[in-house]
Amino acid sequence: MGTFIDTVTRTGGTVLDLLRRFSFKDAIDVAIVTLLLYALIKLVRDTRAGQLVKGIILLVALYLLSFYGDLLMLNSILRAFLQSTVIMVVILFQPEIRKALEQVGHSKAVQSITSNLGGKSRDGAETRAAIEGVVEATAILQQLRMGALIVFERQTKLGEIISTGTLVDAGPSGQLIANIFFNKAPLHDGGMIIRGGRVCAAGCILPLTASDSVSAELGTRHRAAIGMSENSDAVVVVVSEETGQISIAVGGKLTRNYNRVTLSETLFAELIGAEGVAQGNGLLGRLGLNKGKKEGR
Ligand code: ATP
Ligand code: MG
Repeated sequence: MGTFIDTVTRTGGTVLDLLRRFSFKDAIDVAIVTLLLYALIKLVRDTRAGQLVKGIILLVALYLLSFYGDLLMLNSILRAFLQSTVIMVVILFQPEIRKALEQVGHSKAVQSITSNLGGKSRDGAETRAAIEGVVEATAILQQLRMGALIVFERQTKLGEIISTGTLVDAGPSGQLIANIFFNKAPLHDGGMIIRGGRVCAAGCILPLTASDSVSAELGTRHRAAIGMSENSDAVVVVVSEETGQISIAVGGKLTRNYNRVTLSETLFAELIGAEGVAQGNGLLGRLGLNKGKKEGR
């Protein structure tokens, strides 16, 4: 009993000693490691990495068994295999690792740091004109029942996607955008990229989402919108040729049934921010357009 009390007292003393020496730097250290572990667990849970982790755990268990059971040949094979595991994991999960790192880059915290360091990268007036052009074009195309796929580039540069299409470099008037998506026009197939408030390219091939949770009624145009928004921080607007519905994809999520007002508000909020929404509302208010209901998304 006496030894037990001694052990408890000693352990308590060590813990108190550690707590006394615990500095602010240690708190930051623990917080960063916790965040990294959380991100790793999330990555493993959300991707096919979960299966691989199970496989690796099994191999490690086998390795320990061979080590303690003196199974020399099995042990040396497993040791050689496990030594190269890190490189194999990086090669096998290159797309997932790339996506996770890109998500870090797209996070609001990192973006606000980079935009503060590099000055405001978005030109508000040009972006506003582009939003107005896209809203006007979607209204025209919706009426004509013609499809459209319009990508607003943000921080992630879409040079690779632009190179799959045709350079346009034109001002973002509603009529021009609608004209490009007119279903007899040579560039109507594929996606349009808006960069820095200008129509940069059209007829671009976007990456399709691999997600199997996308509704079966959605075809490749909507899948390309979701895929593009999974692979970048772009905001993607889709007009359905079949239903005339307007949708927006951001961060891998597609929201549907926008009308002229809600589309405009959402684009202002995503591309210009709260200040833009206020000014955008002012503009819509002057045009008498913001009386519409916000429902339908
Ligand atoms: P809609 O509601 O307009 O019919 P959908 O989601 O059902 O759209 P599809 O009917 O398959 O999709 O639309 C095909 C069109 O989508 C193609 O003609 C092309 O313009 C566009 N599209 C399909 N895949 C891509 C892609 N990877 N990149 C860019 N555009 C694409
Ligand atoms: Mg279709």
